[in-house]
Amino acid sequence: MALNRRHLLAAAAASAVPLIHGGAKAAESHDVIIIGAGLSGLNAAMLLKEQGLRPIVLEAASEVGGRVKTVQTVEGGIDVGASQIGRGYARAIDLCQRLGLKLVTEDRDLLTFGAHYKDTWIDNKTWSQSPLNQCVGEEREITPLMMGSRLVSKYNPLVELDDWLNPRFAQYDISLRQLLQARGHSPQAIELAALSTPGISIDGTSVLRMWQEEVRGGLERKLGDGGAPRKDHPFGEGNDHKEIGGLAAISNIEGGCQRLPLAMAAHLGDAVRLNKAVARIEMTDRSARVTCEDGQVFNARFVVSAVPFTRLRKISIEAKPNPLVTQAITQMPYANTARMYLTVEPFWLDDGLPPSFSTDGPMGMFWAIDNHKGTGAHRAMIVMVGPAATAISARGPEAVAPYLFEELARLRPASRGRVRLNTYKDWALDPLQLGCGFSLAPGQVNAFARDMLTPWQVMHFAGEHTRRIEFGMESALESGERVALEIISRA
Ligand SMILES: Cc1cc2nc3c(=O)[nH]c(=O)nc-3n(C[C@H](O)[C@H](O)[C@H](O)COP(=O)(O)OP(=O)(O)OC[C@H]3O[C@@H](n4cnc5c(N)ncnc54)[C@H](O)[C@@H]3O)c2cc1C
Repeated sequence: MALNRRHLLAAAAASAVPLIHGGAKAAESHDVIIIGAGLSGLNAAMLLKEQGLRPIVLEAASEVGGRVKTVQTVEGGIDVGASQIGRGYARAIDLCQRLGLKLVTEDRDLLTFGAHYKDTWIDNKTWSQSPLNQCVGEEREITPLMMGSRLVSKYNPLVELDDWLNPRFAQYDISLRQLLQARGHSPQAIELAALSTPGISIDGTSVLRMWQEEVRGGLERKLGDGGAPRKDHPFGEGNDHKEIGGLAAISNIEGGCQRLPLAMAAHLGDAVRLNKAVARIEMTDRSARVTCEDGQVFNARFVVSAVPFTRLRKISIEAKPNPLVTQAITQMPYANTARMYLTVEPFWLDDGLPPSFSTDGPMGMFWAIDNHKGTGAHRAMIVMVGPAATAISARGPEAVAPYLFEELARLRPASRGRVRLNTYKDWALDPLQLGCGFSLAPGQVNAFARDMLTPWQVMHFAGEHTRRIEFGMESALESGERVALEIISRA
């Protein structure tokens, strides 16, 4: 019997397949739907596929990688997201080897740091004697830029990588300000810590979250020369380039970090679909149905959320109520960083001030990158985190370059006309990210962080925000591996 128009309409209604651009598109069926083609989603897909399952990865953007992004500029490729791979990144290093990507020693040594504080230039070497230094006791020796991280580190009692989740340390699920006040720190030390604190702010981030990062960073140091963090060499000043087992302390991927997710996606072939923004997830205990913004429907036995919670909270989820996971999805805060990538003439040779510096103003930090020649063009970055990043996001991206160039010229008149913009990225304004990385507010480790990974019916949770013992890209890969194992054991 030939199909007529009435049959077609009845079939479409029966399967509730949405009509797209005037035509019906059949729902696709797979074993596992993975939402998001960042490192976590791609790693989960590769491992599931290796085990004989049929995953499909739905990615909202027109390219894979998420927070691993290489932007092409007149100065060549610039990694505006992740770039640094440590010696302890077992999964990332293994993937690079398997996918034929070359790791090269990072060439991003920062030139000497100073600080601009209360409208005065501070020489880090003489800060302890400065009349502006109102700190007391040992605090006086800590330079303004390092106050936050040094005090976070000073009180860290954690030893094991997962101690941050151990209920033994539940009392530390407080803010850094609360900790520093309880330990009797001076108002100025607390003010300086607020300017340089890792995370969202001195009040907005749980100390346990900060210590997780700190303990994992300590492992990288042990894999190197075993030394303590270098006191006044933050962010790469005086990097350790010595190779151990063929790897420097920090490596980059030759040609840009995005080559890693691109190679993973190439390996997965047509299991990765671009421009597929997921809008809705419907679940039972046995299956999931996922609908994209363009109306296309995918069915599967399992679904993996590999998107940041800033994005998952915008997806409509129909499922059995799950108050703890819903609290995590809707309330987990995200930190931000906004970074401006520049080419500069070495204006510090003219004004005699430190090439790199931190400020208590809107610029946050200026990182001057060593070109190993001294003279001629240098790469540089303006790096805003915490409250400085929040404030700059409010200005909108168009206004930022003139505003920051003027601020730089106000602090360093010698820079005027000698700075060129290569690219700018504000992660809070990226609609597919809405932040640069997960955070946990004081009280949230105890409230939900320990238990939020329990699958919600057939949905499993991946992404750097679901880390247990890793950080950065390695935590995204770790989470992809975990969900793959969870699903394989259920399937
Ligand atoms: C500025 C910056 C610098 C960093 N530097 C380093 C570093 O040097 N070293 C390091 O190890 N780590 C670094 N990181 C951290 C690292 O980038 C992340 O931990 C990691 O890339 C996160 O991967 P993910 O898979 O969890 O998430 P993501 O990479 O965010 O992937 C999520 C994906 O989901 C997609 N998506 C969102 N919404 C939807 C939707 N509705 N439907 C379908 N898809 C959707 C997004 O487009 C994205 O591709 C940095 C991060 C930033 C922002």
